[in-house]
Amino acid sequence: MRGHGDRSQLEVTEVPTPRVSKPGDVLVRLKAAALNHLDLWTLRGLPGLSLTFPHILGGDGAGVVEAVGDAVTRAKPGDRVMINPGVSCYRCEYCLAGEHSLCERYGLLGEHVPGTLCELIVLPEQNLERIPTPPAPHTEISWTEAAAYSLVTLTAWRMLVTRAKVRPGETVFIWGVGGGVSSTALAIAKLAGARVVVTSSSNEKLAVARRLGADETINHDRQDVVKVVRALTERRGVDVVVENVGEATWDRSLRILGRGGRLVSCGATTGPKVSVDVRRLFWFQWSIMGSTMGSAEEYRQIVELLGQGHLRPTVDSTYPLDQGVDAFHRLEQGQQIGKVVVEIE
Ligand code: ZN
Repeated sequence: MRGHGDRSQLEVTEVPTPRVSKPGDVLVRLKAAALNHLDLWTLRGLPGLSLTFPHILGGDGAGVVEAVGDAVTRAKPGDRVMINPGVSCYRCEYCLAGEHSLCERYGLLGEHVPGTLCELIVLPEQNLERIPTPPAPHTEISWTEAAAYSLVTLTAWRMLVTRAKVRPGETVFIWGVGGGVSSTALAIAKLAGARVVVTSSSNEKLAVARRLGADETINHDRQDVVKVVRALTERRGVDVVVENVGEATWDRSLRILGRGGRLVSCGATTGPKVSVDVRRLFWFQWSIMGSTMGSAEEYRQIVELLGQGHLRPTVDSTYPLDQGVDAFHRLEQGQQIGKVVVEIE
């Protein structure tokens, strides 16, 4: 990325080869990197973000360990690894308490530091897990699947399991199931034994969601979401709302939230300013929670689940690195079902 702007700022070019310089670092030769909407926002420019150009985008990736620093114990050359996109200081009180995404220096590959859309990357060993092998009849996890997994799964896992503590039999409502975090949230909520209601503006995406286990689907362009949810829940509302839309959906998110309900937010794609009637907040004993990314321990948990055959990611399309700009075009169009992945040779 030569600078902020549109796709014309992207090019495939040579940069200096990174080397292991700290004892806890690992050099990884990447085989695949997956795109996230975050990459588009970083390209366009986020407030307060200052990058050194040329900058390498990409948070998600998987590859082979090529070299390790002297103090590394969890990885060795030849290991097939997948990458946790969140980097932190690993020393502050939050990191030592296992709350890495609360670290003051928490950042994401591709957003705050150079990312995975490249051949070689140096990372702290804490950011790597070996790609697991699920038992038969599951097939082996491919490079593209390993690359597609981490960012959205870690985000949705922390939202639903760590923060909202979703329980079997509860009703979970998810806006915009076409999005990466939302479709993964559907899979996690089903794994947790919840009844799941999802929305989309696309009937095609709603049909895919039903195949992935959604119990109820709502076309939010053509149907009155509040009315439909009230009917589906016999007027009691839902237990958990997964929010990442912000201004455009917030009021409806609260109108469908039942007594004792939890709303968990990880984004505000339509705008950040929302309001809450405090009387409803205390009377209905709601919990309104923020969530972002996840910890090293949460990352280990989701990789373990992948190894048990759960939460297999859906790959929409793959592009070779030298056509990486086309992958961004695919993501911008918003027609994808699943992850857009770049393969690296
Ligand atoms: Zn820290």
